[in-house]
Amino acid sequence: MTGERDADCLFCKIATGEIPGDVVHETESTLAFRDIEPQAPTHILVIPRSHQPNVATLAAKEPETALALLDAVAAVAEQEGLEAGYRVVFNTGAQAHQSVFHVHAHLLGGRTMGWPPG
Ligand code: C5P
Repeated sequence: MTGERDADCLFCKIATGEIPGDVVHETESTLAFRDIEPQAPTHILVIPRSHQPNVATLAAKEPETALALLDAVAAVAEQEGLEAGYRVVFNTGAQAHQSVFHVHAHLLGGRTMGWPPG
């Protein structure tokens, strides 16, 4: 794994295979797996393998990985056949409902989305 790692982080453990995930896409610096509590017919989490707590620290400290993460989101959306549309969400901070502090993009699709989000 490149970059940082937090021994207590759930998503770091999924990234290394220590905890299994339903993996759908992998690159050298990213991993994508199905969310265990899906909020849409397609709900996939795309993470960097390295540990950054949120999208702001990822962009500031590892901009190449941030770009790779967005490339992976686009690749997974295409792989999952989401050409009708999809939503990408980075919950950032507790008030925004972030519960796992290893940055992850929620890729949601397969149904009509509402707006504004709750
Ligand atoms: O944005 P937030 O931090 O709340 O999202 C964390 C996501 O991680 C949740 O959607 C949750 O269902 C998912 N999760 C998972 N596998 C785990 C633990 C959490 O897919 N083992």
